[in-house]
Amino acid sequence: MNKTQNILIIGAGLCGSLLALRMAQRGFQVTLVEKRPDLRKVTQDAGRSINLALSNRGLRGLRLAGVEDAAKKLCIPMNGRMIHDKVGNTFLSPYSGRKDEYINSISRPGLNMLLLDEAEKMPNVKIIFNHACEEVDLENASATFKDFNSKNETTISADVIFGTDGAGSAVRKSMYESHKFLFSFSQQWLSHGYKELEIPAFPENETNAETGYRTYKNALHIWPRGEDMLIALPNLDGSFTVTLFLPYENSEYCFENLTSPEMVHEYFNKEFPDVVEMIPNLSEEFFTNPIGPLGTVKCSPWNAFGKVLLLGDAAHAIVPFYGQGMNASFEDVAVFDEILEKYSSEKTINWNNLFKEYEALRKKDTDAIADLAVDNFHEMKEHTAMEIFQRKRKLETAFEAEFPEEYYSKYALVTFKESISYSEAMKRGRAQDKAILNLLDDGKITDEMSLKEKLELVKKETEGILHDD
Ligand code: FAD
Repeated sequence: MNKTQNILIIGAGLCGSLLALRMAQRGFQVTLVEKRPDLRKVTQDAGRSINLALSNRGLRGLRLAGVEDAAKKLCIPMNGRMIHDKVGNTFLSPYSGRKDEYINSISRPGLNMLLLDEAEKMPNVKIIFNHACEEVDLENASATFKDFNSKNETTISADVIFGTDGAGSAVRKSMYESHKFLFSFSQQWLSHGYKELEIPAFPENETNAETGYRTYKNALHIWPRGEDMLIALPNLDGSFTVTLFLPYENSEYCFENLTSPEMVHEYFNKEFPDVVEMIPNLSEEFFTNPIGPLGTVKCSPWNAFGKVLLLGDAAHAIVPFYGQGMNASFEDVAVFDEILEKYSSEKTINWNNLFKEYEALRKKDTDAIADLAVDNFHEMKEHTAMEIFQRKRKLETAFEAEFPEEYYSKYALVTFKESISYSEAMKRGRAQDKAILNLLDDGKITDEMSLKEKLELVKKETEGILHDD
């Protein structure tokens, strides 16, 4: 393999930084170009999710590049969903019956900085900040950037270009606007947007401040309210990052009509009274922090002329309700790397074939997680508060605890079982969900049955559904 090839990676977010590190480890000459200033030197604007749920598929990508252990030092384990009802009662719904299965809260800037540091240690990586890609010459693998320092335009050429410039990708736009090949693109927005708030850590001098955390640390907190929802993930400094998911309009409470501090307090006091006590500057934060849109982007092909490939959100942005966007983007790097390995014995890599093989393998999986993420939006805001859903989760947790080799819930298949693809996880998980809900609804799972009998019944029903599909 000719490893002196020049690789240009556009976008030094989570996916681009990991890809740069991995491609450098494989010996390529890597140039990584980022629109924003270096986040290790300049604090970035608020409004992008501050912390994220990192799970097995993401860890697989980090492991490949040798940074899993370093990333884990930034993690807070979250063992389950802590559900908060309207009067402040809480209960913990574990993510799995297997003790070693949990997700992790990790700081986005912390993880991004780690990946940039590691990439920068490689002698064959050059990182350029403050350069926004404006256009890509797809056939010639060259890209034009606006330099925010000098205000000049610069062009960088390479053997191949990777577009990892996120959901609003400029690289993808060049593909969309090219008339030289057929490019399909869809973007679907939810009627909800999101806004971040913060539950600060206890000040050190407060009496109940031993842990620093104002609510239980090791959970992903959810306040499900049917149409709207609040979630909170812990940070290492004792604070929680809270995200409100709310309709833009046409609802009793929506972003359109929460226009005064009184309205914001009225809404929070009614829906989330226990949170009001925990956010001292509620209305100030509410009006300072931006509203972010939530959308799904699907497109195809991801590759142009064997010269340019999209990865991460640029190829497949998804809504955040499965906590899988970053995980899928890191898994992209791992899947790509596995295919690259096969081509490594060739004297010159046939990038066109490699890119096509990657997309053929990967697209169905990113489409699956995009659809699952929308499903989970409804599950989180509505179903987690429903009795039948809670009975289903209890049963699944018992199956996983008692028969850890035999049963994986849909959540566990997607989140923890990285050895199977998202599309397989979706197929099996949906069939299981349908099976259990049908059996519970029809009263076919009874208290007299042993757990093993219940499991066998669920398995049989699931196989029937899979067979019919
Ligand atoms: P990004 O992280 O968006 O990085 C793209 C980079 O490209 C940025 O640095 C950007 O500045 C740069 N860039 C953009 N345009 C240009 C340009 N023209 N030229 C040069 N550079 C450019 N995922 C999870 O796995 N777990 C979660 O819990 C989770 N929670 C989320 C919560 C919210 C509210 C949101 C919105 C998303 C969440 N995600 C989560 C999804 C996750 O943030 C994304 O999937 C992930 O950031 C994708 O990484 P990326 O590198 O592809 O894109």
